[in-house]
Amino acid sequence: MPTQPSPAVRETDVLIAGGGPCGLMLANELGRRGVRCLVVDAKADTAFNPQANATQARTMEHFRRLGFAHEIRALGLPADHPTDIAYFTRYAQHELSRISLPTAAEALVRIKSMTGSWSAAELPHRVSQKFVEQALRRHAQGWPSVEVRYGCTLERFADDGASVSATVRPADGAAAQEVRAQFLVGADGARSLVRRRLGIEWGGVTGIQREFMGGKMFAIYLRAPAFLSALPHAKAWMYVAVNHQRRAFMASVDGVSEYAFHAAIRPDEDADNWTEEDARRVFAEAVGVEIPIQILSMGTWLAGHALVAQKFQRGRVFVAGDAAHLFTPTGGLGYNTAVEDAVNLGWKLASVIQGHAPAALLDSYEAERKPLAERNTAYARRFADSVGLFSAKPELEHASAQGEAERERAARHFNEHARLEFNIPGVTFGGRYDASPVIVGDGATLPPDEPNAYTPTASPGGRPPHAWLDDGSSLYDHFHSEWTLLALGSEAPDTAAFESAAKALSMDLRVVRMAQPSLRELYEAPLALIRPDQIVAWRGEPATDAQSVLMRVIASVTPTTRKIQ
Ligand SMILES: Cc1cc2nc3c(=O)[nH]c(=O)nc-3n(C[C@H](O)[C@H](O)[C@H](O)COP(=O)(O)OP(=O)(O)OC[C@H]3O[C@@H](n4cnc5c(N)ncnc54)[C@H](O)[C@@H]3O)c2cc1C
Repeated sequence: MPTQPSPAVRETDVLIAGGGPCGLMLANELGRRGVRCLVVDAKADTAFNPQANATQARTMEHFRRLGFAHEIRALGLPADHPTDIAYFTRYAQHELSRISLPTAAEALVRIKSMTGSWSAAELPHRVSQKFVEQALRRHAQGWPSVEVRYGCTLERFADDGASVSATVRPADGAAAQEVRAQFLVGADGARSLVRRRLGIEWGGVTGIQREFMGGKMFAIYLRAPAFLSALPHAKAWMYVAVNHQRRAFMASVDGVSEYAFHAAIRPDEDADNWTEEDARRVFAEAVGVEIPIQILSMGTWLAGHALVAQKFQRGRVFVAGDAAHLFTPTGGLGYNTAVEDAVNLGWKLASVIQGHAPAALLDSYEAERKPLAERNTAYARRFADSVGLFSAKPELEHASAQGEAERERAARHFNEHARLEFNIPGVTFGGRYDASPVIVGDGATLPPDEPNAYTPTASPGGRPPHAWLDDGSSLYDHFHSEWTLLALGSEAPDTAAFESAAKALSMDLRVVRMAQPSLRELYEAPLALIRPDQIVAWRGEPATDAQSVLMRVIASVTPTTRKIQ
């Protein structure tokens, strides 16, 4: 007979270690489905430091699916603040090159008429992670089944095959809490206790050395109200300093006076022991003149990782986000990949816990997300090579013909580089799960996977092609929150077999009919099955064996599913 837990044991369905973007997004995915979860985070609150600066378009589409993309887009820079990425020798000296991207206000308007690679429901948004985390936390806590506890550390856990027991310790000295959960997710960041205790090693590479974005970096979160008046150039969002003395980049946090500044450290420097005076000196080097600053925080971090955990799951325990993959932040992919892990795992955990899918569905998390992490870390590495291996010669700053020639060389390089790193529809929309056991592939020839171009395809395994409808709404806004069967074209394909098979399998499937011939053409099939994470699981003709398709996409081997105990 199973032993009854003592009342002191806190029961939940999913224990999430880590309340960063990954853990909080997972809590949102579970909470909206009524799944009980407890998020614990060792820190007192969400992040104080700005960290990630860029929310990619696919992440914004997921925020839209959850109903709060508009709220995120209102965070960070003022709506009319430029989002340019600009390269300088030093901020107060020569500008080398610049790429202009839409402001938050423009993004909302422009997206409605963009086609091809940028045919999407949302454009990217420049906002510090610290603001996104606050919004994710607020929304997670709005779900009755979610509890979020900051100041609470996961100390130990054990998976006995039937459940996971864990000890979490509050920072305020209160007694440790025993927790029993059906599943544990380690969204506990780069130094993940969960990954280490599971004995999961990193794969990939680390310690890559480059002049910039490879080696130790010194970060300063600062206030510099005089910065814009010291800048003899147009305002930007990202300011990159390229000179022989020291490379650096800086993102505007609030569009007014707060900045996240990061400088490369030379191997002979001991930045771990740097004082505020050192911080002011290093910042002044990048600006080219001294301006007053208020330091809000400072510290070092390491660039040069392209690491992916060798396993994403052991039994009832998963790792996700930085616990599962570690990026060099070029391209802004770490937090975005972390959010997509949560999106992928969330509906699968909910389906299994609520008895709509067998536990085998959870195996597809690693099968889908590990290759994606390998792909994305490789892209970030390529961007880091492009920006970081450029050699800034002393002549770059000389007032001479040679200096001019050097600046022209740098301008050409960074013009090209900026377009490689900051216009990445292919990276954000083009991730695919072709080898997944729960995707019914159709063998179509796929467009190439490339960073700067994206060719929509409804071939199962990828993001559904997007379209704006005649009433101005996004096709995605019509997708059901769980399974959607798109029935396309004026001839209204028969969906009865899918509807009855879904009923038998207790799958929450909604048929969405769209008569426009253009959508039928875009999807190249009359029927397309869209997963809860907005991935095409199957497409085809009405005559297909609906039951076997639906069983495959939830990893079922029997025509009925059973709630796991
Ligand atoms: C300078 C810089 C710039 C970046 N820019 C970008 C960018 O533009 N775009 C982008 O996508 N990414 C960027 N990143 C990466 C991004 O910040 C991370 O990928 C992201 O924070 C990962 O989210 P996460 O939730 O997986 O982990 P984290 O944000 O690290 O959260 C993990 C949480 O777990 C908690 N925790 C740890 N151990 C325990 C424990 N035992 N018990 C309880 N809680 C625990 C921690 O307190 C932490 O809050 C950048 C990173 C850096 C350093």
